[in-house]
Order: sequence, then structure tokens, then C-alpha cells
Amino acid sequence: MGAAAAPHPSRSILEIDLRAIVANWRALGARLAQGATCAGVVKADAYGLGAAQVAPALAQAGCTEFFVAHLEEALALRPLLPETAYLHVLNGCLPGEEQIFVAAGLVPVLNDPGQVASWTAQARRLGHPLPAALHLDTGMSRLGLTPREAQTLAAQGEASAPIDLRLVMSHLARAEEACAMNGEQLARFAVLRARWPAARASLANSSGIFLGAPFHFDLARPGAALYGINPVPGRPNPQLAVVRLTAPVLQIRDIAPPETIGYGATFQAPAAMRVATLACGYADGWPRSLSSSGTVHHEGLSLPILGRVSMDTIVVDATAAPGLRVGNRVELLGSTIGVDQVADAAGTNGYEVLTRLGRRFSRVYAAA
Ligand SMILES: *Cc1c(COP(=O)(O)O)cnc(C)c1O
Repeated sequence: MGAAAAPHPSRSILEIDLRAIVANWRALGARLAQGATCAGVVKADAYGLGAAQVAPALAQAGCTEFFVAHLEEALALRPLLPETAYLHVLNGCLPGEEQIFVAAGLVPVLNDPGQVASWTAQARRLGHPLPAALHLDTGMSRLGLTPREAQTLAAQGEASAPIDLRLVMSHLARAEEACAMNGEQLARFAVLRARWPAARASLANSSGIFLGAPFHFDLARPGAALYGINPVPGRPNPQLAVVRLTAPVLQIRDIAPPETIGYGATFQAPAAMRVATLACGYADGWPRSLSSSGTVHHEGLSLPILGRVSMDTIVVDATAAPGLRVGNRVELLGSTIGVDQVADAAGTNGYEVLTRLGRRFSRVYAAA
């Protein structure tokens, strides 16, 4: 946390462990087949945890390949990374953005033949090759050249020469499942990437790494698993937890039937009970779908959420914690209940839980 002032007692605190992120990156790299390297995906502000902190920590640990989604994310990050680091923009380079990419030294992920043509033209104008990654769609129907477009482009050969094609990539649709589609995408990618033998190839996201060596190619692109999300759902999480969220108790009260809690009066006290109000609500990214479901933790005790999640607060059953006091901190996310468990209870995935964690928290980083 360095010299930053201590957060006010009334503020929720999000602790982000950069050491754990770096350890997770190293552990993923150690799983890769011989010769493959590990990138860091830091889009969406490093899945909500702070790209300005996460990316330099990874660079310090030896990561040289980074991916963001938006041009704006890349422009903000570029000055914080070593000049030798490659910063790829997954959403591609739209018409008119070419000069911005060149000036900032960014690598566009070219997603369609039009982008390839514009980037090629830009390189011709400048008279020197420009680096690029080429995205081939093998089953997402989201971004990237279709197999037919890829074959046409490969057949042109010479026409794309001004591009320094450093990477050919594709993305798996169902990497976290054991299913035939992974093998099908792998087979399609293997055929297509062979048209650009000089370019490095990249297919695996976090879960893809765990599908085995044939999926590793030259570069893996993990995001989620860096941040502690389980890349192998249904099996024990091999990654370290990265975040801890604690919220202070704002008020404690005793209620009895027929009193109710919160908007909609959706919870009515069935008996005399103690309840505690915590400073965290849906405006902080705490899923509203956790209304009357999910739990928070205090000194080994599990305290159920009662009634609706409000904008700024939630109410929990503190009957089992008679020692709980105003100002005490209760754990919403951490080692007892992880990102994936909160996501399960909320009916979403860990990616959404992390990327929504709000701006009102006091963010405390444990240095790498
Ligand atoms: C987000 C993203 C990744 C990272 O995926 P994780 O499942 O978070 O590891 C890799 N590649 C592409 C193209 C992506 O959009």
C-alpha cells in the first residue's frame, strides 16, 4: 500500500495481491509445452483489478506479450510498459485508427480482410513493415477472418508482404469443457496457421492451457487464471486467490417478527434475530442477484445475505456472531469464499464478478 493514507473506516477495501498474479502467471508458463511462452491478457483494466498495476508487475516478472481489448486501454498502458513489450489490441484497428496504432507502437489484431488491407496500405505509405497479429475465426463467429477469407488472403501472399505478421491466433469457444469442439477448433487452426509458417501461433486462453500441449503452440493468452478464476471448473482450482474484499459493518440491530428487511420487504424475520448492515451494494458491483442468497464471512462464521441487495448496502444475518461490532470488517470475497463461488451463487461467472468490482472501494495492492 506504500505511503497511501489509511482508508476511512466506513469504506470497503479491495485487496489485490500482485504477488499472487505473478505466481499464477509463472505457474501457467510452467505448464506450457517446450518452446511456448505465456502472454498476459490485461483487457478490461486487467479484469477490473487495475491494468496499470498488473501489467507492469507482469513485465517485471518477464512477460513481454500483452493483450487488451480496446485502443484506449492500449494507449493508457503503453507508457507503463517497457518499449520492448508487445501490446496487442484484440478489437482490431478500425478505419482511421491506423496512424494512432503506429504512433503508439501498438500491434493490431487484424480481424477482417479490410483491416488487413488498411494496415498493408499504411505500411506501404510508411515504407517499412508494420507488426500485426492475424485473428482467424475457428468457431466463435465473433472476430477474425473466416476460414475462406484466410485461405484467400494466404493465396495473395505477396500482397500482404509489408505486414510483419508476428502472430496468427484463434480463440476457443468451450475451452473449460471436455468436448469435441476443442479438437475441431484445434484441427481447423492447425490447417490455417500452416499457411503462415513464419508467424508464431496462439490458440489457448486460460482453460485452453489445461487442454494439453497440442493447444499450446508458441504463445498462450491467459487472462482469467492470472486473476484466480478457476480454469478447470469442477476440479480443484490450481490458481492462487488474488482478491479479498471486506466491507465494514455500518449498523447492527435486533429485529423480531413481523419486521422485514430491505426493498420489497422480501425477507420477514421468522424469529428474533440480529442483523448487520454492510457498506457494499450493487453500485459497488456486488451482484443484485445475490438478494437473499449468498453469504459473507466473519471469523470462520458464514453469515447469510437477507433481503434485497441495495445500491449501497446489504444486510446479513449476524445472529451467529454475537461479537460482531460496528466498524468490524466482514469478508465478502477472499480465501473462504472465492470469486467462482460468489459467481455460482449469483448465477454468473467469475469474469463478470471481477470486472464489475466497483470504483468506490479503497484498493490496496500487495506489491509483487
Ligand atoms: C479474453 C481473451 C483471452 C483470455 O481469456 P481467459 O479465458 O480470460 O483466459 C484470450 N484471447 C482472447 C481473444 C480473448 O478475448
